[in-house]
Amino acid sequence: MPRPPLQLFNSMTRAIEPIVPLDRAGKRLSLYVCGPTIYNYGHIGNFRTYVAVDILRRALRHFDFEVDHVMQFTDVDDKTIRGAHEKGLPLKEFTAIFRQAFLDDAKTLNLEVPPRTPNATDHIPAMVALIQKLIDKKSAYVSDDGSVYFRIASFPKYGCLCHLDLSSLISGARVNQDEYEKEGVGDFVLWKKWVPADGDVGWDSPWGKGRPGWHIECSALSMEHLGEQIDLHGGGTDLRFPHHENEIAQSEAATGLTFVRHWFHVEHLLVDGQKMSKSLGNMYTVRDVLARGYTGRELRYALLSGANYGKNLNFTWQGMEDAKTALHRIDEWRKRVRDKAAEGPPSDGAASSLPAQEFVAHCDAALADNLNINGALGHLFELVRQTNGALDKAQILPGEARALAAAWTALDSILGLGDATVVIPVEVQTLLDQRAEARKAKNFAKSDELRQAIEDLGWKVKDTPKGQELLPG
Ligand code: AMP
Ligand code: ZN
Repeated sequence: MPRPPLQLFNSMTRAIEPIVPLDRAGKRLSLYVCGPTIYNYGHIGNFRTYVAVDILRRALRHFDFEVDHVMQFTDVDDKTIRGAHEKGLPLKEFTAIFRQAFLDDAKTLNLEVPPRTPNATDHIPAMVALIQKLIDKKSAYVSDDGSVYFRIASFPKYGCLCHLDLSSLISGARVNQDEYEKEGVGDFVLWKKWVPADGDVGWDSPWGKGRPGWHIECSALSMEHLGEQIDLHGGGTDLRFPHHENEIAQSEAATGLTFVRHWFHVEHLLVDGQKMSKSLGNMYTVRDVLARGYTGRELRYALLSGANYGKNLNFTWQGMEDAKTALHRIDEWRKRVRDKAAEGPPSDGAASSLPAQEFVAHCDAALADNLNINGALGHLFELVRQTNGALDKAQILPGEARALAAAWTALDSILGLGDATVVIPVEVQTLLDQRAEARKAKNFAKSDELRQAIEDLGWKVKDTPKGQELLPG
């Protein structure tokens, strides 16, 4: 059955549209995602966005695109400079800690890290060159305070992403901050002149010592790595204004080309129905969730299920328990299916693998429809229910079970849930090793004794043609 084309909500047009890359003949698709500001550990809201992007990247591949994915790390801004200063560390050393922490958390959540993850400060010349181009085109100017600003009045399209009515908004004031409200729209900063609070952070430029504003980073880095136009650009919903508006203004004023074909925005994660904030004490890191005894796999499940990426997702501890239960149900089913498949040759019943084929088609249709992961999970649990019933009645043949296992693998290439990692306690592993020795020496009395010792510790051991298999009791 041919796969339906992948369609996604485009926040620029506010419509669900098929993904058609610039490279129409080929299948190459460029994806730029705004990376984290590395001054702290990322919270689970940040990772909701990166899990959604990970699902997007895997789905694009599933729909046969070759994804060229770039994400930068923002390693210079007010927050990173302040953090480095407080810790008494050079900026690079300070941000390196949180860059690594992000990569470690990404691993915990089984995120595929893009092959190119540039640090902003390694690309200052590209930013300086882009700012100079904007000055040459009269889209930017050096102000009397020595900083460089983008001239909003030179870009009539400003506000196109958020559908802003500029006439009622432009205040005329200049904005020297990276973040500001819609009510405060004004010429925004591209290059910030050095101030004593910046300490030893600063780069030479035609406008004197200073540092780039946040917005120019993404325009310069995406152009440097992916070209002047990109197919897909993503981030959390809060980045739409002003960050992405400003990226559009800078990039399009410089090139005269449409910067992005398709905008992908992920709505926010709430905690217990509320915005996450330090003062409410509900701002959890990935590490906080692990410290409560959950696995990265369970957190990934909680972040990818529950709500479409285009809707708010409410995080609760009950939701983590539900994720655990759902994964347990999937794992049990997969084990039953695997055991059944091992019972006979693939030809045994392969012809009647219709439920598996139908399931794959239903999942493809759900994913093609704006990444409807919950729709795909709904089909999965229906399949689990039906085939568990059929397995109880011995109505599934090994070949059918093999087709079911393959169908799961296809869906999991997008879900990225993988296998449960069983952490085996040292004392159990020691007994297992001793038992393997005893069996090799054909000392079955000793082997049975060791089996009992393993069971006393709450585990079960099964002898299979491949050796001992350990199962939680
Ligand atoms: P930052 O490090 O602040 O630039 O944020 C990194 C990413 O996390 C950006 O794409 C943000 O839009 C996103 N983000 C921030 N807060 C949340 C949240 N509560 N839920 C989902 N995404 C978020
Ligand atoms: Zn960005």
